[in-house]
Amino acid sequence: MSENFDVIVIGAGPAGYVAAIRCAQLGFKTACIDKFVDPSGSPSLGGTCANVGCIPSKALLEVSHNYTNTKNDLSKQGIDVYGVKFDLKKVMSYKDSVVKKLTSGVAMLLKANNVTSIHGTAKLLTNQSVEVTDNKNNKTNYQAKNVILAIGSTPIECKDAKYHKDIIVDSTGALSFNEVPKRLAIMGAGVIGLELGSVWARFGSEVVIFEAMDEFLPMADKDIAKDLKKNIEKNTGIKIELGTKVTNSTTTGNSVKVTYEKDGEISDQEFDKLIVAIGRIPNTNNVVDPSVGLKLDTRGFVEVDKYCATNIPNIYAIGDMVRGPMLAHKGSEEGVMVAERLAGKKTELNYDTIPNVVYTSPEVAWVGKTEDELKKEGIPYKTGSFPMIANGRSLAHNDVRGLIKIIAHEQTDTILGVHISAADASELIAQAVISMNFTASSEDIGLIMFAHPSVSETFHEAALALQGHAIHTVNRKK
Ligand code: FAD
Repeated sequence: MSENFDVIVIGAGPAGYVAAIRCAQLGFKTACIDKFVDPSGSPSLGGTCANVGCIPSKALLEVSHNYTNTKNDLSKQGIDVYGVKFDLKKVMSYKDSVVKKLTSGVAMLLKANNVTSIHGTAKLLTNQSVEVTDNKNNKTNYQAKNVILAIGSTPIECKDAKYHKDIIVDSTGALSFNEVPKRLAIMGAGVIGLELGSVWARFGSEVVIFEAMDEFLPMADKDIAKDLKKNIEKNTGIKIELGTKVTNSTTTGNSVKVTYEKDGEISDQEFDKLIVAIGRIPNTNNVVDPSVGLKLDTRGFVEVDKYCATNIPNIYAIGDMVRGPMLAHKGSEEGVMVAERLAGKKTELNYDTIPNVVYTSPEVAWVGKTEDELKKEGIPYKTGSFPMIANGRSLAHNDVRGLIKIIAHEQTDTILGVHISAADASELIAQAVISMNFTASSEDIGLIMFAHPSVSETFHEAALALQGHAIHTVNRKK
């Protein structure tokens, strides 16, 4: 059976399912094709994010945080809790239940919006014809006036650390360990490595992260990255070995020997498990027939313009498979933009205000430029910071780690970047994103009233500090 659609979206991750819903809302006859199956073999929508990415990792981060907080920190507030322990099997069931709620929610939303959901592996045969192979190897062809590719990304494999059972694993494997590794090695101190390392360290693993680069979180502001490294090492005991390249790994029985090189010296250590978290590559292999002529860049990403249009007029590509940060919200907004432009609207995205968050403890979040980037671009700037320790609500929360820094243009005072390290950085950053989208100046933020006591006041105070008149911290002499 073949069917014609106005739009076929391939991939039901946060980029694809959002694009499909928005297309259907705008009156297009829309199908969304996805091949993902859960461990029981059932189709599961929501892509990497809902199944093996953002959502399960945040569920485990939340549980592990509650565990350590109850064990170590509640007594400081006068609450004595004895015999605190966790049951990993139940923790994993909780995580799976969160995933299930989300993924079935996506299925419900597609249905409610009249999107035809098709399960199977899609291949674009021509610019208007998509072949879908189901799990019994039956093939069906569908036709579409427009195709939106949203097929996401996969972890990069490492030749020096090949996956082996549940001993050498990728991020997906690391979300489902059935016991807490006594000693855990992680390759890569990027966002995923830090978050997974935090989970297992809080559950009791001795964690060592090997990072080939000399600099920690080079994409983040230097002060914030420094603050985070200090806090992670102090609070979780995670060792972050910078400038250290894993050169080999060999498994014997239930352990892995990791060989690494630092300053020209070769060493090795035994671990129970090794997580390979060295980045992700786009899923562009074998999804588009070469005769279509779709242009990829040298790293395999689909080439698109700022509106996510490819070199083929009716084919669009969004999310992790195109340039830009591999983040769920970036893909979702690209999906909305493509749908709306297909409907004749002039929707554009502001790629300069994509929020980034690392869900460690404290969390780290930023938007816009770092000082280093502005220096390189020769843009004059000024900064204002405020420490969480001077905020009443943070004190009451018993978490005063971190700071907030606002960077504004030296002459115009327009906010160019905001960088936060704090317990609630993922929530605080939204204020900065909104401010920057309305091209607010630090003076504008300083003139606004913020509820007291709230952690949000730190954004206000950092803006005042930039003006030289913060109230609750001593101002830097200019
Ligand atoms: P995906 O979510 O990868 O979805 C693509 C879908 O396409 C998949 O379901 C796939 O099965 C399907 N597909 C692929 N090929 C085909 C085909 N030929 N036919 C049919 N279907 C196909 N991002 C954040 O913003 N915040 C976070 O906190 C965060 N945490 C993360 C934690 C981890 C551990 C990981 C691994 C990632 C995390 N990410 C996070 C990144 C986020 O998951 C991705 O940026 C996001 O999922 C990308 O969305 P997407 O729709 O482009 O692709």
